[in-house]
Amino acid sequence: MSSIFRQEVLAMSAYKVTNAQGLIKLDAMENPYNWPEDLKLDWLTALKDCALNRYPDPEALELTQTIKRIYHIDDQFEVMLGNGSDEIIQLLLMALPSDASVLAPAPGFVMYKQLSDCLGLNYLSIPLQAGNFDLDLPAMLETIQRYQPSVIFLAYPNNPTGNLFSQSAMLEIINVAKGLVVIDEAYAPFADASFIDALPDHDNLLIMRTVSKLGLAGLRLGYVIGRPAIIEQLNKIRLPYNINSLTQLSANFALNNHALFDQQTQKICQERPVVFNQLNTLPGIIAYPSAANFILFKTPTDQASRIFLAIKHQGVLIKDMSAQGGLLSDCLRVTIGKPEENLAFIMALRNCL
Ligand SMILES: *Cc1c(COP(=O)(O)O)cnc(C)c1O
Repeated sequence: MSSIFRQEVLAMSAYKVTNAQGLIKLDAMENPYNWPEDLKLDWLTALKDCALNRYPDPEALELTQTIKRIYHIDDQFEVMLGNGSDEIIQLLLMALPSDASVLAPAPGFVMYKQLSDCLGLNYLSIPLQAGNFDLDLPAMLETIQRYQPSVIFLAYPNNPTGNLFSQSAMLEIINVAKGLVVIDEAYAPFADASFIDALPDHDNLLIMRTVSKLGLAGLRLGYVIGRPAIIEQLNKIRLPYNINSLTQLSANFALNNHALFDQQTQKICQERPVVFNQLNTLPGIIAYPSAANFILFKTPTDQASRIFLAIKHQGVLIKDMSAQGGLLSDCLRVTIGKPEENLAFIMALRNCL
């Protein structure tokens, strides 16, 4: 196949997802809670009138307006929807010149690199500081000066480390960068922190969010907020019907009932310190502080993969990050689940130390 496909594609490996059947699923930052029965019935009633014989609204106007209203997005900014925020990352990178550079700290969200590599872009990653996982500001600034990246991704909070980078370092990067800076707020529902209020002051800033971690991962819906001049360009390469009718209708329905998700994310936030404290009482385990719905933790040297498998054999699926090396050596990541799921995880971990 080497004569058919681009070298970049041949060199890639596919994004693998472990089969979670029969396991307590604490690997993918999903909300563990379902909807009450009466809300499900109301949703089904709304679905009944969905015209599947017609193409969806290409602008998803109603849903876009709901998002703007609920999240108090100022009218001077535009919102573009994506089939998950993954698609927004892809669209943004597809719009760049083929010799463009893309910058993100490491460790970071894998899709930034995966999609940059696929498009043959020059992907630059700067290690976070060891110990607190904050940005290495001098190294970031030097790389920006030297390569003038077209796009910089900063996840706030960061995945997989869970922390919020220093606000002043982020602002300095936004100020210095001549290219776009995308603040990826996938974990905003758990964080109590956002750069949305900085939008009016910086014309190179984009805020990207998703409903996935909020509790709607199955719908595949992300969105990006920014100046009309930027969104206009991205809209040109967006496929016209990228948000299907069922997603438009269901997301609109769910967001109009966002009080439920607020309660659920609150419960998850209440469980987070419980899991954090339990992890840190276990011998040889160091849990890192998190503002997201997951916790990264370090295991004793060269034990991470063994511990991951031993936990899995006890029926709990988490995520083994250790193969990525660097700051993630010996690290595992667990998503905060229901209290009983978290307990099962802690028991399973304790059994194999
Ligand atoms: C999960 C995640 C996303 C992707 O979200 P989708 O909307 O489900 O595609 C983007 N960024 C970060 C940092 C994430 O952790």
